Amino acid sequence: MAIPLRRGLRRAGPDAPAPEQQPSPPAPAAGQEEIRRQNLGAVLRYVHLHGPTSRAELTGRLGLNRSTIGALAGDLAAAGLVTEEVPTTARRAGRPSLVVSPCATRVCATALSIEPRRLRAARIGLGGRILDQRETPRPYGSSPLDAVAPLADLVRGMAGEDGIRYAGGAVAVADTIRDPDGTVRVAGADDALVAALDAELGDARPGRPGFVAGDLADIAALAEHTRGVAAGVDDLLYLHGDRGLSAGIVTGGRLVVGHGGRSGKVGHMVVDPGGRRCGCGSRGCWETEAGTDALLRRAGAAPGTSPLAVLRAAALGDAVARDALHGVAEWLGFGVANLVNVFNPDLVVFGGTLREVYAAGAGTVRRRLDSMALPASREHLQLRAGSLGADAPLIGAAELAFGSLLNDPLHALTAQ
Ligand SMILES: [Zn+2]
Repeated sequence: MAIPLRRGLRRAGPDAPAPEQQPSPPAPAAGQEEIRRQNLGAVLRYVHLHGPTSRAELTGRLGLNRSTIGALAGDLAAAGLVTEEVPTTARRAGRPSLVVSPCATRVCATALSIEPRRLRAARIGLGGRILDQRETPRPYGSSPLDAVAPLADLVRGMAGEDGIRYAGGAVAVADTIRDPDGTVRVAGADDALVAALDAELGDARPGRPGFVAGDLADIAALAEHTRGVAAGVDDLLYLHGDRGLSAGIVTGGRLVVGHGGRSGKVGHMVVDPGGRRCGCGSRGCWETEAGTDALLRRAGAAPGTSPLAVLRAAALGDAVARDALHGVAEWLGFGVANLVNVFNPDLVVFGGTLREVYAAGAGTVRRRLDSMALPASREHLQLRAGSLGADAPLIGAAELAFGSLLNDPLHALTAQ
């Protein structure tokens, strides 16, 4: 699959190879150097996603011959991107196949997220492990650009030991921002934000990787699609809950981005024309009934209360909390049924705060879905909570940040 990236993303273009993509046969005109670059990328991508892998298995998985894999792994090891070791337990007699592992602590990406209530920064190693993570509250109503300085402080606070090399950075930006006057607008995953991050944290040398920005729901969807519950599923709907609802939609292995990358605002799908006024100016938007704020309102909890408190109360039998959960789960199923009829995905993943809401109200969501969605759209459909939890936006941002390195392993790194 290939995930085309939104306008404003600087490094990974629409033709960037996808994580699971194996090297396609080179065009006859492709030079040897280009073939080598693609093959180096395929080997590095494989161990990045699957962890330590023997040369023998790489040979089989990537369809390249043994001596080619040996040469490629040797080049990657010489570049400090992988290590090669004799396996500790050899399964067969004879010379064991060396195990190729990503340099998980020496080659890193900077992953950032700008969320409605908090800002987060993480250092994530090649292979996808979070090595360090920091967060700070986000002032209500502040703009994404206001987040640059505190994010830079978080990053500087977690600087690792000498010798770490950086593949670049990416930031996941929550799709909608509420201005102090309550107006909802779509946040800019835009050039100004990227330029400000590059100025604060980037490597100014020409040709070095800069920051990439993208919509948080899209990036979390990418994470679940690459490493989480949706791995291997090419038609999926990822729903992210925070204050509102948004979606990352993958069809045929491609992320639906729309004009300017602004698609997926499913929280503003009108489900009740006579319903409550939404912050976007419309009335009866889905997120006014199925979002976290709706859960708190139904439960009589103060805005800003953790939705987990309501879910815990519901689990303990509190009647008001149970009714609140039931109502939100009904509306969640209502909206999902409509989206399922439109996109016909194989899998719906619930992320962000929806992860817990879905886990608590799964039966209600499924019943509503079964009563509304077309049989052809629902019979094969699976509903799952995201497996990466709150880390999904950061893990997805790191995947974006590693894109250049995985496309051209020998020419993308920058020293700390
Ligand atoms: Zn709205």
